[in-house]
Amino acid sequence: PQFMLQPAGGSPSTSSVHIQTAWHIDSLQDELRSLSWDIWSRPEVAGSETNAHDRLVRFFSQRGRTWTVQSRYKLPTAFRASWGPVGGASSAVHVAFLCEYDALPGLGHACGHNLIAEVGAAAALGLQAALEEQTQLPVPVKISVLGTPAEEAIGGKIELIQAGAFSDIDLVFMAHPAQQDAPFLPTVTVAEVTVKYHGKASHASAYPWEGVNALDAAVLAYSNLSVLRQQLRPEWRLHGIIKHGGTKPNIIPAYAELEFYLRTPELGDLHDLKAKAEACFRAAALATGCQVEIIYPTQTYFNILPNATLANLYRSNGEALGIEFPEQPGSFSGSTDFGNISFVVPGIHPFFYIGTDALNHTEEYADAAGAEEAQLHTLRTAKALAMTAVDVVCCPDLLQRARDDFSLAKRQQETVAKKSAQSSVNVSLEAVRHVSLLKN
Ligand SMILES: [Zn+2]
Ligand SMILES: [Zn+2]
Repeated sequence: PQFMLQPAGGSPSTSSVHIQTAWHIDSLQDELRSLSWDIWSRPEVAGSETNAHDRLVRFFSQRGRTWTVQSRYKLPTAFRASWGPVGGASSAVHVAFLCEYDALPGLGHACGHNLIAEVGAAAALGLQAALEEQTQLPVPVKISVLGTPAEEAIGGKIELIQAGAFSDIDLVFMAHPAQQDAPFLPTVTVAEVTVKYHGKASHASAYPWEGVNALDAAVLAYSNLSVLRQQLRPEWRLHGIIKHGGTKPNIIPAYAELEFYLRTPELGDLHDLKAKAEACFRAAALATGCQVEIIYPTQTYFNILPNATLANLYRSNGEALGIEFPEQPGSFSGSTDFGNISFVVPGIHPFFYIGTDALNHTEEYADAAGAEEAQLHTLRTAKALAMTAVDVVCCPDLLQRARDDFSLAKRQQETVAKKSAQSSVNVSLEAVRHVSLLKN
């Protein structure tokens, strides 16, 4: 047959099916560039990506009857385009490529999500072309492209998980623009917390003793967290602002509000950090006599679980295409809602260089994401991703290994989480004990 598949670490460039994949993506480069450009030139922030949604829906609707497109799929600006299954309908391996397309307020496509959309579309079409050439597949394959909006706020992927959008998917692929090429970079979890202090207003000069000062509580909480920071692990982060701190100097503030982000490299540790931070928030309420509300208004973004099998395949496919992966990959102390998906479905989320040293979330990066030079890197990344998908769907052994890696990484996280849950309980018991001591 046409398969010249090599095991991981072999030389996949020799495979004719890989060549077919790459060739097909190249043949679509003008269409893909224009798709990316249209999204880039009309930036839309999280949750309002109507034009990007419509453009992508049109892109797949025009690909012929083999593609089924569902616009507004479970979320107003999400979509799903599906092809196949080919090779028989029963128990198909369902491969999904994810597209992001939200921009940043005031900065445009400064995270390069237009390129993520391009990579997702290109890789899916590359895989389709490769599969169409095959007369026999070890398992039937179905391809979907999922448009996952609102990554920069809200966490669209988390809402899609909850709506069941990933329940029939076996493997997930996407790639994100960064400062370097890397099959895997650790990302961190993030929990957003809003803290509201309720006190009592009074004339700040005439009757200050009648007031309960909510701003004082916010200031103390801010200081408590600053003190706590020194005792935290170096890779943990907490950072925030005072959102409301009163209205007028001569009124004791009856209301104050803080907004903080809490981040740890692993989900298990986040429970610990939350418990410590909550103790700081409560202590400030106790000291001032305020009531406190601690609210987590958005979903927690999880860290990305690694998948060694997929990462190794991506690396060898990327190298065969001329991608240079740094020996010592840097870190990426950001967060992504892809992390949550990596806890649900085996997948890969490589990072890719786009031809600039500028940093994500800057004006320079927004320019680079729309520049011609980014195209070479973007299409090469799409090819490496599609070739990796080809490897896995054409080799049941690799598919099993990717699934085993997923289970292993999840088990390891659960062990961390259990340990940490135990210590969180200890922290809160300690805090409760102190509070009761104070009451006595
Ligand atoms: Zn971003
Ligand atoms: Zn991003």
